[in-house]
Amino acid sequence: MTSATFCPDCTLCPRLASFLARTVHENPDYHCKPVAPFGDASPKLLIVGLAPGMHGANRTGRPFTGDYAGILLYDSLHALGLSSAPTSVDRSDGLQLRGVRITNAVKCLPPENKPLPAEIRTCNQYLAAELAELKSVKSVLALGTVAHDATLVASGLRRSAAKFGHANEHELPGRCEPDEHKREDAHDPAAVLVGDRALQHRVGEPGHERSEEARCERSDERVRRLKRQREEHDRESVEDRRAGVEAADVARVAEAHQPERADKRSDTHGGEQQ
Ligand code: SF4
Repeated sequence: MTSATFCPDCTLCPRLASFLARTVHENPDYHCKPVAPFGDASPKLLIVGLAPGMHGANRTGRPFTGDYAGILLYDSLHALGLSSAPTSVDRSDGLQLRGVRITNAVKCLPPENKPLPAEIRTCNQYLAAELAELKSVKSVLALGTVAHDATLVASGLRRSAAKFGHANEHELPGRCEPDEHKREDAHDPAAVLVGDRALQHRVGEPGHERSEEARCERSDERVRRLKRQREEHDRESVEDRRAGVEAADVARVAEAHQPERADKRSDTHGGEQQ
């Protein structure tokens, strides 16, 4: 990570900088600085969120860590063999991601979880530099409209180039060299925005296979756990609820793209959805 992709002391957004200063005064043990991206240095999949949550990433200093949103996200990544553990506790827990990197469209905590358009534009320089540096990225999973649009702009495209929709998939041109196109399946795009396909591919890689029985047992247990978490979630604040919906998208996308598991669950649970 270079100073072009991330600056830990950035104060380019005056409103956010002063909000962080007030927040750390009230919560001296909180991170309260720009939150660095986290994960594999050469990922195939880049997950882009909105911004740090007050008591999550803003507290711990790691994206999607410390609040409800991260519970579902990291559990889903672990179930797919992309994370060394199902939970992300803090920056010293030793967690490692495999082939995945997580970042935010806006690196600093915004009041009420709502960055201003000017702040999204200002911080886009870091996302653009990150995308330019991470040549290995084949898929970008955007968690929400702000992340989706920020990814388009950071890729040099207009926001109107692709419309956000849950599990929608769009080609991101220019993410690989022409020669690479020739070697790969002619139907594979250079890269996709909303990268559920990458999750599916990754599960199929050697070393990440599980027996069908074990996978189904784990899936059923995870569904039960997700239901319990959602019940708790209903009691959370509006801010946490917004973030939780974004993370739930990851779990839903992952499930939807594992047809053999979906079929089995359909047989045994009458097609129950998460
Ligand atoms: S949101 Fe981004 S550009 Fe704005 S102060 Fe934070 S790191 Fe800097």
